[in-house]
Amino acid sequence: MQEEVSAATAMLGLDGFVLLAVSQQNGELEQAIETTSREDFCGGCGVQARLHDRRPTWVRDLPAAGRPVTLVWVKRIWRCVEPRCPVVTWSEASPAIRPRASMTERARVEVCRRVGQDGHSVAQVAAKFGVAWGTVMAAVVEYGTPLVDDPDRLAGVQALGVDETAFLAANAKHHTQFVTGMVDVTASRLLDVVQGRSGTVLCQWISAQPQPWRDGIRVAALDPFRGYATALRTSLPHATRVLDAFHVTRLGFAAVDDVRRRVQRQDLGHRGRKGDPLYSIRRVLRRGHEHLTDTAWDRLLTGLDVGDVDGQVAAAWIAAQDLRLLYRARDRDDAGRRLHRWLEHCADSGVPELHRLARTIDGWRPELLAYFDTGGASNGPTEAMNLLIKKIKRTGHGFRNFDNYRLRLLLHCGVDWHTQQPTRIRGRLPRLIA
Ligand SMILES: [Zn+2]
Repeated sequence: MQEEVSAATAMLGLDGFVLLAVSQQNGELEQAIETTSREDFCGGCGVQARLHDRRPTWVRDLPAAGRPVTLVWVKRIWRCVEPRCPVVTWSEASPAIRPRASMTERARVEVCRRVGQDGHSVAQVAAKFGVAWGTVMAAVVEYGTPLVDDPDRLAGVQALGVDETAFLAANAKHHTQFVTGMVDVTASRLLDVVQGRSGTVLCQWISAQPQPWRDGIRVAALDPFRGYATALRTSLPHATRVLDAFHVTRLGFAAVDDVRRRVQRQDLGHRGRKGDPLYSIRRVLRRGHEHLTDTAWDRLLTGLDVGDVDGQVAAAWIAAQDLRLLYRARDRDDAGRRLHRWLEHCADSGVPELHRLARTIDGWRPELLAYFDTGGASNGPTEAMNLLIKKIKRTGHGFRNFDNYRLRLLLHCGVDWHTQQPTRIRGRLPRLIA
């Protein structure tokens, strides 16, 4: 026997419930529902219960046709008729709407998805559903945690990226808090974040992974931080350590900034300010030479002409550009030769900042050249990820709670959501028209 379902109940789409009535007010829908169960038996003695009362309970549900929905579940209160039974009355329960809940479970799943996959802020989603911030966050924690804890989430990683700088959780009220992030460089997915930036936290995280997982890592891309390098050497000894191209490039431009500031101070006796020749070209100096327009070139050369009499800033700028171009080398040998020439250029420059940069780069020579052995372990995904992470930080308005921060990041950048895609409407056979 097939149970007949009314059109209204089909629209409701909530298993075990039927739709009784719909009313509209101020653009919102209120839908009265009840369960399909017509009888119940006492949990204490098993005797068939008698209907004692009806009591409405209000919960938020998924929006319908773009309108916010409140369900009014007219709950049955049952009564045990057996006088010797200690059980007196009880109300109906349903897994779809938990006791004392302010949202249906399917709405809770949806708010978790909006915060996680769509990256909306908890406050924004709470406002959309007309519930409290804590209600939404509780749903994100409950439905998001299993996705993040799923061991399959980390499966199949071959190239591990480690980065600290991108995860700065600074806000106006406290110091910058550093976080170490682990990234699957190939699949461009965030694996995890841990508090702190040290070899120890990285080591602890890697050691917590199963041995087969660790054996699968062939390449470890890292930023130039000794703590990470040591941690990777001890915990993933078989993996090739590669210095991240992005960070190498950044070291070069950081040196340009340092030289510019020093020369500025020496020549003018104060920190750079508006109107100073070098200060006004500080941004142009940080750009790759191929991105400079004719106007930018003119500004750059004029600024250097006036503000960089000894040519120290120019020397640093050339060194930074050449360091970038190292990555255009044909192969490792070619890169080795270019690096050698570059180190000589720095040594001969007479610019202390370039001496220091050359010493740093020289200290990372094997990791830098390993880039050419690994088919160019790229930092691209890590950078794309950083943009997402910044977005999450913006929507979160500064996270005070690290667990929430980690959960939000991983839900947005580290989880496959497998959201059901609707069937395409065109080309589908009409079902209602016979
Ligand atoms: Zn009973």
